[in-house]
Amino acid sequence: MSFTLAIVGRPNVGKSTLFNRLVGKRLALVDDQPGVTRDLREGDARLADLRFTVIDTAGLEEATDESLQGRMRKLTERAVDMADICLFMIDARVGVTPTDEVFAEILRKRAKHVILAANKGEGSAADAGVIEAWGLGLGEPIRLSAEHGEGLNDLYLHLMPLADGFAERAAEDAPEVDVTLDEDEAEAGEDGPVLRPITEAKPLQIAVVGRPNAGKSTLINQILGEDKMLTGPEAGITRDAISSRTSWEGTPMRIFDTAGMRKKAKVQDKLEKLSVSDGLRAVKFAEVVVVLLDAAIPFESQDLRIADLAEREGRAVVIAVNKWDIEEDRQGKLRDLKEAFDRLLPQLRGAPLVTVSAKTGRGLDRLYAAVMKAHEVWNRRVSTAQLNRWLTGMLEQHPPPAPQGKRIKLRYMTQAKTRPPGFVVMCSHPDKLPASYSRYLVNGLREDFDMPGTPIRLFMRGQS
Ligand code: GDP
Ligand code: GDP
Repeated sequence: MSFTLAIVGRPNVGKSTLFNRLVGKRLALVDDQPGVTRDLREGDARLADLRFTVIDTAGLEEATDESLQGRMRKLTERAVDMADICLFMIDARVGVTPTDEVFAEILRKRAKHVILAANKGEGSAADAGVIEAWGLGLGEPIRLSAEHGEGLNDLYLHLMPLADGFAERAAEDAPEVDVTLDEDEAEAGEDGPVLRPITEAKPLQIAVVGRPNAGKSTLINQILGEDKMLTGPEAGITRDAISSRTSWEGTPMRIFDTAGMRKKAKVQDKLEKLSVSDGLRAVKFAEVVVVLLDAAIPFESQDLRIADLAEREGRAVVIAVNKWDIEEDRQGKLRDLKEAFDRLLPQLRGAPLVTVSAKTGRGLDRLYAAVMKAHEVWNRRVSTAQLNRWLTGMLEQHPPPAPQGKRIKLRYMTQAKTRPPGFVVMCSHPDKLPASYSRYLVNGLREDFDMPGTPIRLFMRGQS
């Protein structure tokens, strides 16, 4: 039930660095032996709960002449043919080079599945390169920093649905295993179940986070109990976080439960620290984060920290206020909650706030609707034509400032990414544009395109 991932790309983009990170010490490296040809390296990789084989086209030299270019191409093609999934890496600090284009072409023609990674992604020097990577036409680039271990959560999110597909296929290959195909698979062609495209195959990943006793376990049990549980609690992302596959109102979901680890903590002062770091892990792997508050003690520092973290990690956020069944003055309470929310979490402006009772199950339908909506918005793509019409209106309504008499020009806008939505504006002097103007645009986007519950990123880019 495993798959093979090939890391390909031109020399020096960071392939070996990622390889080493995925394989750790599980492979004896024969690194520093001059003269030894290491063309393809293979190792047993681990990424959270995924186990797979990884191949690295290590040892490539920068191809300066015809023969080297030929060798590079051959080696890459060999790796691509051996792999189920290719991770195509570019250097985000350098941007897309002609050699990258050559690789992209090979992958488009030959690879079964391609995941695009823009490496060296730490810091703002990589912003432009990450956006440029979209132009390769291989989908959304993952912003990685192999060296600093950043972006591995996104890599995981891209691999997991594919990995699930291989697990299903592996089960199918083994005749003694009695597998019941779901409808999608039953419809697959003669070659057996095919990998469904990422958007369909992937269960929606949610994490329920919140302080101890907020009711996380109760909520998750309610959700799991509502529909048939597909697979039980399984060893999760780490030895401590647990995830369950289920379907909630018919939507496949993977729910990350952060309660498990906390329950193991014995010492009281350790408890808070553990539940925060545990929540942090769940946030990194989730698409939608449900911040569960206890109505009696809402917006405590721990709640604020985790909600802020979810925003910074770019997750869609839904605030759920639990134990609503024991609330007496509901209207007054709701008013207070909304006021506190606006004041304490301005960065989450627009995120939905839903009242629930995990115990009785009341409000869970509204929570479901809020989660689905937040997820939809998080994945939303707005057309360039729409955006530019909108931008023209915004500029007319409130023109950008004109430092030293020269008006800053915003010329063109496009959506560069989703999950969460990110937009690029071409700007004559990005460094001179005040942050308040960016906020004006972000707030406008949120209102005019109805995008609650998701962080919105806006990048100003100078024109060269
Ligand atoms: P390969 O030729 O593609 O296998 O590239 P390497 O893994 O050997 O990396 C080339 C260089 O880039 C090395 O000096 C690495 O330390 C550096 N590098 C790798 N990943 C990163 C990263 O995420 N950020 C930065 N800044 N440097 C990186
Ligand atoms: P966790 O620590 O966040 O996982 O919280 P638990 O799910 O263990 O719940 C903590 C306590 O709150 C338990 O005694 C639950 O029975 C109680 N509880 C959870 N949800 C509700 C609710 O909606 N209403 C009421 N009245 N109690 C609840």
